[in-house]
Amino acid sequence: MTIKYRRMLLKLSGEALMGEESYGISPKVLEFVASEVKEVIELGVELGIVIGAGNIFRGVAGASKGMDRTTADNMGMLATVMNSLAMQDALERNGIITRVMSAIPMQSVSEPYIRRRATRHLEKGRVVIFAAGTGNPYFTTDSAAVLRALEIDAEIVIKATKVDGVYDKDPVKYSDALKFETLSYDEVLRKGLRVMDAAGIALAREDGLPIMVLDMGESGNIKKAAIGKQVGTLISE
Ligand code: UDP
Repeated sequence: MTIKYRRMLLKLSGEALMGEESYGISPKVLEFVASEVKEVIELGVELGIVIGAGNIFRGVAGASKGMDRTTADNMGMLATVMNSLAMQDALERNGIITRVMSAIPMQSVSEPYIRRRATRHLEKGRVVIFAAGTGNPYFTTDSAAVLRALEIDAEIVIKATKVDGVYDKDPVKYSDALKFETLSYDEVLRKGLRVMDAAGIALAREDGLPIMVLDMGESGNIKKAAIGKQVGTLISE
């Protein structure tokens, strides 16, 4: 099987890790993601992963209850480290060599993020999990995913969600919602589509980095994306 993308960046939201639960991490989901990742690695794809923390803590939620925003965001970033370690554990149990690199230095549990080191890991076939977002408050892990993808020269960002692409309105609420096969960055921003935060989209646009939005729950989707099949919605120039 020939692959289309040699190096990919997978973005998983924290909520995706929750599965059917209302908080935290579902071991079943972790196991499922690990097997999906394994399929892609076996094709020879080099993979970076960025994980959010909506299943544990979001900075805006803390700030809305009166917390200092920067402190709350720091907590959100630390929560991504927990998710990253859980993902690393699941991947390694499936025989996939993994490194967690944190944007907030945390030497006893992860490596610090150093770009050259990250690309070396990828070249050796190790999956690199980029933890702690960008390391800066007021950003999201969507922006972190695009930023790291650009830094490591990934050819695509795969945004794994619970829906099978981008719709003109919420497909859960509206039965007449229409799915887009493709979208330009400008369309996403103009129509105010809630695919990814605007900062992430704008950053991807600067370098023409494609973003594929697909359903994580459907087995084989990431592999299909890797070999160039159209799954979900492709956002590009
Ligand atoms: N966060 C941050 N800077 C970053 C990335 C994340 O401050 O570069 C914080 C922010 O508080 C955010 C939380 O970490 O709410 C979790 O990330 P995100 O909301 O992107 O998670 P997701 O929605 O993907 O689960």
